[in-house]
Amino acid sequence: MKKVIGVYRNQHMHWVGDGFPVKNLFSYDRLGQAISPFLLLDYAAPYHFDPATVQRGVGSHPHRGFETVTLAYQGEVTHQDSSGGGGTIQAGDVQWMTAGAGVIHEEFHSPDFARQGGLFEMVQLWVNLPAKDKMTAPAYQAITQAEIPRIEMDHEAGHIRVIAGEYGGHHGPAQTFSPVNVWDGELKAEYETFLDVPAHHTTLLVLLKGELVVNGAQKVLDSSIVMFARDSDSVIQLQAYQDSQFVLLSGEPLNEPIQGHGPFVMNNKAEIIQAFEDFNQGRFGKIPVKS
Ligand code: MN
Repeated sequence: MKKVIGVYRNQHMHWVGDGFPVKNLFSYDRLGQAISPFLLLDYAAPYHFDPATVQRGVGSHPHRGFETVTLAYQGEVTHQDSSGGGGTIQAGDVQWMTAGAGVIHEEFHSPDFARQGGLFEMVQLWVNLPAKDKMTAPAYQAITQAEIPRIEMDHEAGHIRVIAGEYGGHHGPAQTFSPVNVWDGELKAEYETFLDVPAHHTTLLVLLKGELVVNGAQKVLDSSIVMFARDSDSVIQLQAYQDSQFVLLSGEPLNEPIQGHGPFVMNNKAEIIQAFEDFNQGRFGKIPVKS
């Protein structure tokens, strides 16, 4: 079985804007090349919002050099960006935004969710772009729940959804710039499953909720990631001690320098300085005025 080389847990919550109470479960500024091509993952664990007349969230801000992937589990997120992308994602949907050469966007609770209130839960993942694609044109993929293949396990033990890449012959709808698998899944208490992941990839298991034992030996609590060796083994065993909800990420390491600052992730300092200059000069465009 695939060797576990690290388990990291973070239960500390911080606010992103006034709409997203998140726990940062991994970040490139701590883990760098070890998690390439992934950069960051924030988990907004279930949080109750009262009905409100104002939409909470994050106002206009830029990104360059990578992709932001938002998985909505409960509640709704409305997004709008300077490349013309936009829309609302609902529970089960995924927004895959390629910042590329640069977007300015805003991320808010949807008007309906703000009005009604309720439980809100989501994940935001940042996926790095290969150096040759960092200045690609911005793009926006709105992926609905219905487009995501969902593979049920035997005995109703759980399921896997294939958002990107491939699992058991099922292909995820997201288009990616490098080989990446993004699966999310659930495994009910007292069941086990085996996941087959590509050998030699970076492989990260993100346990959002529940409690698992990995490969028969490693106990893992919620709000944790498990990092696996980039070895030739490809099998991961999961045994659920509690109902568990997870995201499995695997990807071919980019093996390129990572230089990031705030909302920009490039390959060197000069490109970061250029990003600030381009942003300050208004070269990232504008969010269209709502009609
Ligand atoms: Mn953003």
